[in-house]
Amino acid sequence: MIWINLSKPMSILQQLQAALGPEIVWTPEQAAQRKSSNWVNTTPLNCLALVLPQNTEDLATALKICHAAKQPVVPHGGLTNVVGSVVTQAHEVAISLERMNQVESVDALNHTAVVQAGVVLQDLQDYLKSHGLFFPLDLGAKGSCMIGGNIATNAGGLQALRYGVTRNLVLGLEAVLADGTVVSSLNSLAKNNAGYDLKQLFIGTEGTLGIITRAVLKLEDRPTSRNTAYLALDSFEAAIEMLNFAKKSFGNALTTFELFWQDYYQLMTSPDGPHRPPLPRDHAYYVLLETAGYSPTFDQELFQDSLEKALVSGLIADACPAQSQQEYEWFWRIREQVDYVFTVHQPVFIFDVSLPISKMEGYIEEIKRDLQKNWPEVKVFTFGHMGDGNLHVYVTCGENDATTRHRVEELVFEPLTKIGGSITAEHGVGLEKKAWLHLSRNPAELALMKTLKAALDPHGILNRGKVFD
Ligand code: FAD
Ligand code: ZN
Repeated sequence: MIWINLSKPMSILQQLQAALGPEIVWTPEQAAQRKSSNWVNTTPLNCLALVLPQNTEDLATALKICHAAKQPVVPHGGLTNVVGSVVTQAHEVAISLERMNQVESVDALNHTAVVQAGVVLQDLQDYLKSHGLFFPLDLGAKGSCMIGGNIATNAGGLQALRYGVTRNLVLGLEAVLADGTVVSSLNSLAKNNAGYDLKQLFIGTEGTLGIITRAVLKLEDRPTSRNTAYLALDSFEAAIEMLNFAKKSFGNALTTFELFWQDYYQLMTSPDGPHRPPLPRDHAYYVLLETAGYSPTFDQELFQDSLEKALVSGLIADACPAQSQQEYEWFWRIREQVDYVFTVHQPVFIFDVSLPISKMEGYIEEIKRDLQKNWPEVKVFTFGHMGDGNLHVYVTCGENDATTRHRVEELVFEPLTKIGGSITAEHGVGLEKKAWLHLSRNPAELALMKTLKAALDPHGILNRGKVFD
Protein backbone atom coordinates (compact mmCIF):
# COMPACT_ATOMS: atom_id res chain seq x y z
CA MET A 1 0.00 0.00 0.00
CA ILE A 2 1.31 3.53 -0.88
CA TRP A 3 0.73 6.19 1.73
CA ILE A 4 0.38 9.75 0.46
CA ASN A 5 0.90 12.49 2.98
CA LEU A 6 -1.93 14.86 2.06
CA SER A 7 -0.93 17.43 4.67
CA LYS A 8 2.36 18.14 2.86
CA PRO A 9 2.08 19.97 -0.50
CA MET A 10 3.70 18.17 -3.40
CA SER A 11 7.00 19.58 -4.63
CA ILE A 12 7.24 20.77 -8.23
CA LEU A 13 9.15 17.62 -9.13
CA GLN A 14 6.38 15.49 -7.62
CA GLN A 15 3.65 17.48 -9.37
CA LEU A 16 5.40 17.20 -12.72
CA GLN A 17 6.08 13.50 -12.24
CA ALA A 18 2.49 12.86 -11.12
CA ALA A 19 1.18 14.56 -14.28
CA LEU A 20 3.69 13.29 -16.85
CA GLY A 21 5.47 10.30 -15.34
CA PRO A 22 9.14 9.65 -14.52
CA GLU A 23 10.05 8.90 -18.16
CA ILE A 24 9.31 12.49 -19.08
CA VAL A 25 10.27 14.19 -15.84
CA TRP A 26 13.75 13.43 -14.58
CA THR A 27 15.08 14.02 -11.09
CA PRO A 28 18.04 16.36 -10.44
CA GLU A 29 20.25 13.29 -9.99
CA GLN A 30 19.24 11.89 -13.41
CA ALA A 31 19.66 15.31 -15.01
CA ALA A 32 23.17 15.62 -13.57
CA GLN A 33 24.24 12.76 -15.86
CA ARG A 34 24.00 15.25 -18.72
CA LYS A 35 26.00 18.30 -19.73
CA SER A 36 24.80 21.83 -19.02
CA SER A 37 26.09 23.08 -22.38
CA ASN A 38 27.55 21.80 -25.63
CA TRP A 39 29.93 24.74 -25.88
CA VAL A 40 33.04 25.11 -23.70
CA ASN A 41 31.19 24.74 -20.37
CA THR A 42 30.46 21.03 -20.08
CA THR A 43 29.75 20.87 -16.35
CA PRO A 44 26.86 18.59 -15.26
CA LEU A 45 23.36 19.99 -15.65
CA ASN A 46 22.19 21.33 -12.30
CA CYS A 47 18.39 21.76 -12.09
CA LEU A 48 15.29 21.10 -10.03
CA ALA A 49 13.91 18.77 -12.69
CA LEU A 50 14.47 18.03 -16.36
CA VAL A 51 11.30 17.76 -18.47
CA LEU A 52 11.54 15.96 -21.82
CA PRO A 53 8.13 16.49 -23.48
CA GLN A 54 7.18 14.11 -26.26
CA ASN A 55 4.57 16.39 -27.71
CA THR A 56 2.98 19.82 -27.38
CA GLU A 57 0.43 18.59 -24.83
CA ASP A 58 3.17 17.33 -22.48
CA LEU A 59 4.83 20.71 -22.66
CA ALA A 60 1.54 22.55 -22.06
CA THR A 61 0.89 20.39 -18.98
CA ALA A 62 4.37 21.09 -17.60
CA LEU A 63 4.06 24.83 -18.15
CA LYS A 64 0.60 24.98 -16.55
CA ILE A 65 2.07 23.44 -13.39
CA CYS A 66 5.11 25.72 -13.40
CA HIS A 67 3.01 28.82 -14.08
CA ALA A 68 0.65 28.04 -11.19
CA ALA A 69 3.64 27.61 -8.89
CA LYS A 70 5.56 30.60 -10.34
CA GLN A 71 8.32 28.12 -11.02
CA PRO A 72 11.12 29.38 -13.37
CA VAL A 73 11.91 27.19 -16.38
CA VAL A 74 14.73 27.25 -18.94
CA PRO A 75 14.03 26.01 -22.48
CA HIS A 76 16.82 23.82 -23.86
CA GLY A 77 17.54 23.06 -27.50
CA GLY A 78 20.92 21.80 -28.67
CA LEU A 79 22.72 23.80 -25.94
CA THR A 80 25.17 25.44 -28.35
CA ASN A 81 24.34 28.94 -27.18
CA VAL A 82 27.41 31.05 -26.43
CA VAL A 83 25.94 33.89 -24.33
CA GLY A 84 24.62 32.06 -21.27
CA SER A 85 21.03 31.80 -22.55
CA VAL A 86 20.70 28.20 -21.42
CA VAL A 87 22.40 28.58 -18.06
CA THR A 88 20.16 26.70 -15.62
CA GLN A 89 20.32 27.01 -11.86
CA ALA A 90 19.52 24.45 -9.17
CA HIS A 91 16.13 26.03 -8.46
CA GLU A 92 15.04 26.05 -12.15
CA VAL A 93 13.28 23.42 -14.27
CA ALA A 94 15.03 22.61 -17.54
CA ILE A 95 12.73 21.76 -20.47
CA SER A 96 14.46 20.06 -23.39
CA LEU A 97 12.68 19.76 -26.73
CA GLU A 98 15.01 17.00 -27.92
CA ARG A 99 12.33 14.29 -28.05
CA MET A 100 10.18 16.38 -30.36
CA ASN A 101 12.50 15.55 -33.22
CA GLN A 102 10.28 14.63 -36.17
CA VAL A 103 10.10 16.19 -39.59
CA GLU A 104 6.31 16.01 -39.80
CA SER A 105 5.85 16.76 -43.48
CA VAL A 106 7.60 18.10 -46.55
CA ASP A 107 5.69 19.90 -49.28
CA ALA A 108 8.05 19.73 -52.24
CA LEU A 109 5.77 21.68 -54.56
CA ASN A 110 5.36 24.62 -52.21
CA HIS A 111 8.88 24.34 -50.79
CA THR A 112 7.86 24.10 -47.15
CA ALA A 113 8.31 21.65 -44.28
CA VAL A 114 6.62 21.26 -40.92
CA VAL A 115 9.29 20.43 -38.39
CA GLN A 116 9.32 19.85 -34.63
CA ALA A 117 11.51 22.07 -32.48
CA GLY A 118 13.90 19.31 -31.42
CA VAL A 119 15.06 18.38 -34.93
CA VAL A 120 18.84 18.81 -35.18
CA LEU A 121 19.73 21.14 -38.05
CA GLN A 122 22.12 18.67 -39.68
CA ASP A 123 19.50 15.89 -39.45
CA LEU A 124 17.01 18.13 -41.25
CA GLN A 125 19.54 18.81 -44.01
CA ASP A 126 20.24 15.09 -44.39
CA TYR A 127 16.52 14.31 -44.46
CA LEU A 128 15.80 16.90 -47.14
CA LYS A 129 18.54 15.59 -49.45
CA SER A 130 16.33 12.78 -50.69
CA HIS A 131 13.71 15.37 -51.67
CA GLY A 132 16.23 17.43 -53.63
CA LEU A 133 15.63 20.28 -51.19
CA PHE A 134 17.47 22.07 -48.43
CA PHE A 135 16.83 24.44 -45.55
CA PRO A 136 19.18 27.35 -46.15
CA LEU A 137 20.53 27.78 -42.63
CA ASP A 138 24.12 26.72 -42.05
CA LEU A 139 26.28 27.21 -38.99
CA GLY A 140 29.27 25.61 -37.33
CA ALA A 141 27.07 24.11 -34.61
CA LYS A 142 24.76 22.36 -37.12
CA GLY A 143 25.52 18.88 -35.75
CA SER A 144 24.02 19.79 -32.33
CA CYS A 145 21.82 22.89 -32.61
CA MET A 146 18.08 22.36 -33.03
CA ILE A 147 15.46 24.15 -35.10
CA GLY A 148 13.71 25.49 -31.97
CA GLY A 149 17.01 26.92 -30.73
CA ASN A 150 17.80 28.35 -34.16
CA ILE A 151 14.46 30.12 -34.22
CA ALA A 152 14.65 31.29 -30.60
CA THR A 153 18.05 32.86 -31.39
CA ASN A 154 17.21 34.01 -34.92
CA ALA A 155 20.44 32.31 -36.00
CA GLY A 156 22.41 33.90 -38.82
CA GLY A 157 25.23 31.72 -40.01
CA LEU A 158 27.22 31.14 -43.14
CA GLN A 159 24.69 31.72 -45.91
CA ALA A 160 22.69 34.64 -44.53
CA LEU A 161 24.16 36.78 -47.29
CA ARG A 162 22.09 34.87 -49.81
CA TYR A 163 19.08 33.55 -47.89
CA GLY A 164 18.72 35.88 -44.92
CA VAL A 165 18.66 34.96 -41.23
CA THR A 166 16.32 32.44 -39.60
CA ARG A 167 13.59 35.07 -39.31
CA ASN A 168 13.41 35.10 -43.12
CA LEU A 169 13.13 31.32 -43.27
CA VAL A 170 10.19 30.73 -40.92
CA LEU A 171 6.64 30.97 -42.25
CA GLY A 172 4.70 29.84 -39.21
CA LEU A 173 5.14 28.58 -35.67
CA GLU A 174 3.49 26.74 -32.85
CA ALA A 175 4.48 27.82 -29.35
CA VAL A 176 3.33 27.22 -25.81
CA LEU A 177 2.93 30.30 -23.64
CA ALA A 178 4.10 30.55 -20.04
CA ASP A 179 0.64 29.56 -18.70
CA GLY A 180 0.41 26.49 -20.93
CA THR A 181 -1.75 28.05 -23.67
CA VAL A 182 -0.91 26.55 -27.06
CA VAL A 183 -0.73 29.11 -29.88
CA SER A 184 -0.74 27.28 -33.17
CA SER A 185 0.11 29.71 -35.91
CA LEU A 186 1.35 27.28 -38.53
CA ASN A 187 0.99 29.63 -41.49
CA SER A 188 2.57 28.28 -44.67
CA LEU A 189 1.83 31.20 -46.97
CA ALA A 190 4.57 33.49 -48.20
CA LYS A 191 2.30 36.48 -47.68
CA ASN A 192 -0.25 36.78 -44.91
CA ASN A 193 -1.12 40.18 -43.52
CA ALA A 194 -4.20 39.09 -41.60
CA GLY A 195 -3.49 40.84 -38.34
CA TYR A 196 -0.31 40.65 -36.27
CA ASP A 197 2.49 38.34 -37.38
CA LEU A 198 2.58 36.44 -34.08
CA LYS A 199 5.51 34.21 -34.94
CA GLN A 200 7.80 37.23 -34.59
CA LEU A 201 7.13 37.20 -30.84
CA PHE A 202 9.06 33.98 -30.54
CA ILE A 203 11.78 34.45 -33.16
CA GLY A 204 14.98 35.75 -31.60
CA THR A 205 13.46 36.21 -28.14
CA GLU A 206 15.65 33.53 -26.56
CA GLY A 207 12.86 31.51 -24.98
CA THR A 208 11.60 34.43 -22.87
CA LEU A 209 8.11 34.76 -24.41
CA GLY A 210 7.10 31.18 -25.20
CA ILE A 211 8.47 27.74 -26.01
CA ILE A 212 8.45 26.82 -29.68
CA THR A 213 7.20 23.33 -30.48
CA ARG A 214 6.77 23.24 -34.26
CA ALA A 215 7.58 25.42 -37.24
CA VAL A 216 6.75 25.77 -40.92
CA LEU A 217 10.06 26.37 -42.67
CA LYS A 218 10.83 27.76 -46.11
CA LEU A 219 12.88 25.41 -48.26
CA GLU A 220 15.00 25.87 -51.38
CA ASP A 221 15.89 23.55 -54.22
CA ARG A 222 19.16 21.85 -53.40
CA PRO A 223 21.91 23.48 -55.48
CA THR A 224 23.57 21.18 -58.01
CA SER A 225 26.79 23.14 -58.20
CA ARG A 226 29.03 24.66 -55.59
CA ASN A 227 32.26 26.61 -56.09
CA THR A 228 34.50 27.52 -53.20
CA ALA A 229 37.80 29.39 -52.99
CA TYR A 230 40.18 31.13 -50.65
CA LEU A 231 41.21 34.60 -51.73
CA ALA A 232 44.12 36.65 -50.37
CA LEU A 233 43.81 40.42 -50.18
CA ASP A 234 46.28 43.08 -49.18
CA SER A 235 43.93 45.77 -47.93
CA PHE A 236 40.50 46.18 -46.43
CA GLU A 237 39.43 48.43 -49.30
CA ALA A 238 40.20 45.54 -51.62
CA ALA A 239 37.92 43.32 -49.51
CA ILE A 240 35.05 45.78 -49.88
CA GLU A 241 35.63 46.10 -53.61
CA MET A 242 35.85 42.34 -53.95
CA LEU A 243 32.57 41.89 -52.08
CA ASN A 244 30.84 44.32 -54.44
CA PHE A 245 32.49 42.70 -57.46
CA ALA A 246 31.34 39.25 -56.28
CA LYS A 247 27.77 40.50 -55.74
CA LYS A 248 27.66 41.87 -59.29
CA SER A 249 29.41 38.89 -60.89
CA PHE A 250 27.45 36.13 -59.17
CA GLY A 251 24.15 37.78 -58.24
CA ASN A 252 21.96 35.43 -56.27
CA ALA A 253 24.47 32.60 -56.56
CA LEU A 254 26.78 34.27 -54.02
CA THR A 255 26.12 32.46 -50.74
CA THR A 256 29.20 33.14 -48.63
CA PHE A 257 31.75 35.89 -48.21
CA GLU A 258 33.63 35.16 -44.98
CA LEU A 259 36.51 37.48 -44.14
CA PHE A 260 39.50 36.56 -41.94
CA TRP A 261 41.99 39.00 -40.57
CA GLN A 262 45.55 37.71 -40.83
CA ASP A 263 45.65 36.87 -37.09
CA TYR A 264 42.87 34.27 -37.36
CA TYR A 265 44.17 32.73 -40.61
CA GLN A 266 47.70 32.50 -39.24
CA LEU A 267 46.55 30.81 -36.03
CA MET A 268 44.47 28.20 -37.86
CA THR A 269 47.20 27.44 -40.39
CA SER A 270 50.31 27.77 -38.21
CA PRO A 271 52.85 24.90 -38.53
CA ASP A 272 51.67 23.41 -35.23
CA GLY A 273 48.03 24.38 -35.91
CA PRO A 274 45.23 22.13 -37.17
CA HIS A 275 45.31 22.96 -40.91
CA ARG A 276 47.62 23.51 -43.87
CA PRO A 277 47.31 26.98 -45.40
CA PRO A 278 45.55 27.02 -48.79
CA LEU A 279 47.42 30.28 -49.56
CA PRO A 280 50.66 31.83 -48.21
CA ARG A 281 50.22 33.22 -44.71
CA ASP A 282 51.55 36.75 -45.10
CA HIS A 283 48.56 38.57 -46.62
CA ALA A 284 46.56 41.08 -44.61
CA TYR A 285 43.12 39.49 -45.23
CA TYR A 286 41.61 36.27 -46.54
CA VAL A 287 38.16 35.56 -47.89
CA LEU A 288 36.34 32.25 -48.05
CA LEU A 289 34.09 32.73 -51.07
CA GLU A 290 31.34 30.36 -52.14
CA THR A 291 28.69 30.30 -54.82
CA ALA A 292 25.89 27.79 -55.31
CA GLY A 293 23.72 27.31 -58.34
CA TYR A 294 21.93 24.98 -60.68
CA SER A 295 24.10 25.03 -63.86
CA PRO A 296 27.35 23.26 -62.97
CA THR A 297 29.34 24.01 -66.14
CA PHE A 298 28.20 27.60 -66.44
CA ASP A 299 28.66 28.24 -62.69
CA GLN A 300 32.19 26.86 -62.68
CA GLU A 301 33.22 28.87 -65.73
CA LEU A 302 31.75 32.03 -64.28
CA PHE A 303 33.52 31.38 -60.98
CA GLN A 304 36.89 30.85 -62.66
CA ASP A 305 36.49 33.79 -65.05
CA SER A 306 35.51 36.11 -62.23
CA LEU A 307 38.45 35.07 -60.07
CA GLU A 308 40.80 35.57 -63.02
CA LYS A 309 39.39 39.04 -63.62
CA ALA A 310 39.80 39.89 -59.94
CA LEU A 311 43.41 38.67 -60.07
CA VAL A 312 44.28 40.50 -63.29
CA SER A 313 42.76 43.75 -62.06
CA GLY A 314 44.72 43.46 -58.79
CA LEU A 315 41.60 43.29 -56.67
CA ILE A 316 42.86 40.11 -55.07
CA ALA A 317 46.49 39.10 -54.52
CA ASP A 318 45.98 35.35 -54.83
CA ALA A 319 43.25 32.72 -55.14
CA CYS A 320 42.94 29.02 -54.46
CA PRO A 321 39.74 27.28 -55.62
CA ALA A 322 38.79 23.95 -54.00
CA GLN A 323 39.38 21.15 -56.51
CA SER A 324 37.79 18.25 -54.69
CA GLN A 325 35.39 17.39 -51.89
CA GLN A 326 38.39 16.91 -49.60
CA GLU A 327 39.68 20.37 -50.36
CA TYR A 328 36.21 21.78 -49.87
CA GLU A 329 36.03 20.22 -46.39
CA TRP A 330 39.57 21.39 -45.55
CA PHE A 331 38.66 24.96 -46.54
CA TRP A 332 35.54 24.97 -44.41
CA ARG A 333 37.23 23.43 -41.39
CA ILE A 334 39.57 26.45 -41.26
CA ARG A 335 36.49 28.62 -40.89
CA GLU A 336 34.42 26.39 -38.67
CA GLN A 337 36.91 25.00 -36.18
CA VAL A 338 36.76 28.15 -34.07
CA ASP A 339 37.06 26.19 -30.84
CA TYR A 340 40.73 25.62 -31.74
CA VAL A 341 41.35 29.14 -30.38
CA PHE A 342 40.35 27.81 -26.95
CA THR A 343 42.89 25.01 -27.09
CA VAL A 344 45.71 27.54 -27.56
CA HIS A 345 44.48 30.42 -25.43
CA GLN A 346 42.48 30.58 -22.22
CA PRO A 347 40.34 32.45 -21.35
CA VAL A 348 38.83 33.83 -24.55
CA PHE A 349 36.07 36.45 -24.61
CA ILE A 350 33.99 36.11 -27.76
CA PHE A 351 31.94 38.76 -29.52
CA ASP A 352 29.62 38.82 -32.54
CA VAL A 353 29.30 42.49 -33.30
CA SER A 354 27.27 44.02 -36.11
CA LEU A 355 28.43 47.18 -37.89
CA PRO A 356 28.51 48.90 -41.26
CA ILE A 357 31.02 47.19 -43.55
CA SER A 358 32.69 50.52 -44.31
CA LYS A 359 33.52 50.96 -40.60
CA MET A 360 34.97 47.51 -39.94
CA GLU A 361 38.65 48.20 -40.48
CA GLY A 362 38.69 51.36 -38.34
CA TYR A 363 36.66 49.70 -35.61
CA ILE A 364 38.94 46.68 -35.32
CA GLU A 365 42.02 48.94 -35.29
CA GLU A 366 40.48 51.07 -32.57
CA ILE A 367 39.54 48.22 -30.25
CA LYS A 368 42.93 46.52 -30.75
CA ARG A 369 44.71 49.74 -29.89
CA ASP A 370 42.60 50.27 -26.76
CA LEU A 371 42.92 46.67 -25.64
CA GLN A 372 46.69 46.80 -26.11
CA LYS A 373 46.91 49.88 -23.91
CA ASN A 374 45.39 47.82 -21.08
CA TRP A 375 46.99 44.46 -21.85
CA PRO A 376 50.13 44.79 -24.01
CA GLU A 377 50.12 41.02 -24.64
CA VAL A 378 46.47 40.87 -25.72
CA LYS A 379 45.61 38.78 -28.78
CA VAL A 380 42.62 39.55 -30.99
CA PHE A 381 41.39 37.08 -33.60
CA THR A 382 38.89 38.54 -36.06
CA PHE A 383 36.82 36.78 -38.69
CA GLY A 384 33.21 36.52 -39.74
CA HIS A 385 30.35 37.15 -42.04
CA MET A 386 31.62 40.32 -43.68
CA GLY A 387 28.89 40.22 -46.30
CA ASP A 388 26.28 40.58 -43.52
CA GLY A 389 28.20 43.25 -41.59
CA ASN A 390 28.83 40.76 -38.80
CA LEU A 391 32.26 40.09 -37.28
CA HIS A 392 33.37 37.60 -34.66
CA VAL A 393 36.07 39.00 -32.41
CA TYR A 394 37.91 36.66 -30.02
CA VAL A 395 39.89 38.48 -27.36
CA THR A 396 42.36 36.82 -25.02
CA CYS A 397 44.33 38.82 -22.49
CA GLY A 398 45.34 36.15 -19.98
CA GLU A 399 42.94 37.21 -17.25
CA ASN A 400 39.40 36.08 -16.52
CA ASP A 401 38.09 37.96 -13.50
CA ALA A 402 34.85 39.94 -13.60
CA THR A 403 36.64 43.30 -13.74
CA THR A 404 38.74 42.23 -16.73
CA ARG A 405 35.71 40.86 -18.55
CA HIS A 406 33.79 44.06 -17.94
CA ARG A 407 36.67 46.25 -19.15
CA VAL A 408 37.16 44.14 -22.29
CA GLU A 409 33.43 44.32 -23.02
CA GLU A 410 33.44 48.06 -22.52
CA LEU A 411 36.32 48.51 -24.96
CA VAL A 412 34.67 46.28 -27.57
CA PHE A 413 31.08 47.52 -27.23
CA GLU A 414 31.30 51.23 -26.60
CA PRO A 415 32.88 52.24 -29.94
CA LEU A 416 29.92 50.57 -31.68
CA THR A 417 27.52 53.26 -30.54
CA LYS A 418 29.13 56.01 -32.58
CA ILE A 419 29.20 53.95 -35.78
CA GLY A 420 25.66 52.61 -35.60
CA GLY A 421 26.67 49.08 -34.64
CA SER A 422 25.04 46.47 -32.42
CA ILE A 423 26.46 44.45 -29.51
CA THR A 424 25.16 41.26 -31.09
CA ALA A 425 24.48 40.29 -34.68
CA GLU A 426 23.44 36.69 -34.14
CA HIS A 427 24.32 35.10 -30.78
CA GLY A 428 21.78 37.10 -28.79
CA VAL A 429 21.94 38.64 -25.34
CA GLY A 430 21.39 35.84 -22.81
CA LEU A 431 23.13 36.60 -19.54
CA GLU A 432 26.41 37.77 -20.93
CA LYS A 433 25.34 40.86 -22.82
CA LYS A 434 22.34 42.09 -20.90
CA ALA A 435 24.42 44.69 -19.04
CA TRP A 436 25.15 46.25 -22.44
CA LEU A 437 21.73 46.03 -24.07
CA HIS A 438 21.14 49.75 -23.50
CA LEU A 439 23.95 50.48 -25.98
CA SER A 440 21.95 48.91 -28.80
CA ARG A 441 18.36 49.62 -27.76
CA ASN A 442 16.85 52.92 -26.61
CA PRO A 443 14.69 53.35 -23.46
CA ALA A 444 11.41 53.20 -25.41
CA GLU A 445 12.48 49.94 -27.07
CA LEU A 446 13.51 48.44 -23.72
CA ALA A 447 10.23 49.52 -22.12
CA LEU A 448 8.20 47.88 -24.90
CA MET A 449 10.21 44.66 -24.54
CA LYS A 450 9.33 44.62 -20.82
CA THR A 451 5.65 45.33 -21.58
CA LEU A 452 5.56 42.33 -23.93
CA LYS A 453 7.29 40.13 -21.39
CA ALA A 454 4.86 41.13 -18.63
CA ALA A 455 1.84 40.52 -20.88
CA LEU A 456 2.93 37.10 -22.10
CA ASP A 457 4.68 35.83 -19.00
CA PRO A 458 3.26 37.69 -15.98
CA HIS A 459 5.14 35.59 -13.42
CA GLY A 460 8.37 35.84 -15.39
CA ILE A 461 8.91 32.07 -15.39
CA LEU A 462 10.37 31.73 -18.92
CA ASN A 463 14.15 32.03 -18.97
CA ARG A 464 14.04 34.46 -16.05
CA GLY A 465 16.87 36.99 -15.95
CA LYS A 466 17.94 36.39 -19.56
CA VAL A 467 18.03 39.31 -22.04
CA PHE A 468 17.01 41.79 -19.29
CA ASP A 469 16.05 41.73 -15.60
P1 FAD B 1 20.21 26.41 -27.30
O1 FAD B 1 21.62 26.78 -27.12
O2 FAD B 1 19.76 25.18 -26.62
O3 FAD B 1 19.27 27.62 -26.83
C1 FAD B 1 19.46 28.90 -27.32
C2 FAD B 1 18.36 29.82 -26.79
O4 FAD B 1 17.12 29.44 -27.32
C3 FAD B 1 18.17 29.76 -25.28
O5 FAD B 1 17.71 31.01 -24.85
C4 FAD B 1 17.08 28.74 -25.09
O6 FAD B 1 16.39 28.95 -23.88
C5 FAD B 1 16.21 29.03 -26.30
N1 FAD B 1 15.49 27.88 -26.84
C6 FAD B 1 15.99 26.70 -27.27
N2 FAD B 1 15.01 25.95 -27.78
C7 FAD B 1 13.86 26.66 -27.66
C8 FAD B 1 12.50 26.43 -28.01
N3 FAD B 1 12.10 25.30 -28.57
N4 FAD B 1 11.59 27.42 -27.75
C9 FAD B 1 11.98 28.59 -27.18
N5 FAD B 1 13.24 28.84 -26.82
C10 FAD B 1 14.17 27.90 -27.07
N6 FAD B 1 24.91 31.26 -34.14
C11 FAD B 1 24.61 31.96 -35.26
O7 FAD B 1 23.60 32.65 -35.29
N7 FAD B 1 25.41 31.90 -36.36
C12 FAD B 1 26.53 31.14 -36.40
O8 FAD B 1 27.24 31.14 -37.40
C13 FAD B 1 26.86 30.39 -35.24
N8 FAD B 1 27.93 29.59 -35.24
C14 FAD B 1 28.20 28.87 -34.13
C15 FAD B 1 29.30 28.00 -34.15
C16 FAD B 1 29.62 27.23 -33.03
C17 FAD B 1 30.79 26.31 -33.07
C18 FAD B 1 28.81 27.32 -31.86
C19 FAD B 1 29.09 26.49 -30.65
C20 FAD B 1 27.71 28.16 -31.85
C21 FAD B 1 27.41 28.94 -32.97
N9 FAD B 1 26.29 29.78 -32.98
C22 FAD B 1 26.00 30.49 -34.10
C23 FAD B 1 25.45 29.90 -31.77
C24 FAD B 1 24.35 28.81 -31.65
O9 FAD B 1 24.72 27.65 -32.32
C25 FAD B 1 23.02 29.32 -32.20
O10 FAD B 1 22.56 30.38 -31.39
C26 FAD B 1 21.93 28.25 -32.31
O11 FAD B 1 20.86 28.77 -33.03
C27 FAD B 1 21.43 27.76 -30.96
O12 FAD B 1 20.63 26.61 -31.15
P2 FAD B 1 20.48 25.50 -30.00
O13 FAD B 1 19.49 24.50 -30.45
O14 FAD B 1 21.81 24.98 -29.61
O15 FAD B 1 19.84 26.37 -28.84
ZN1 ZN C 1 28.66 33.57 -36.92
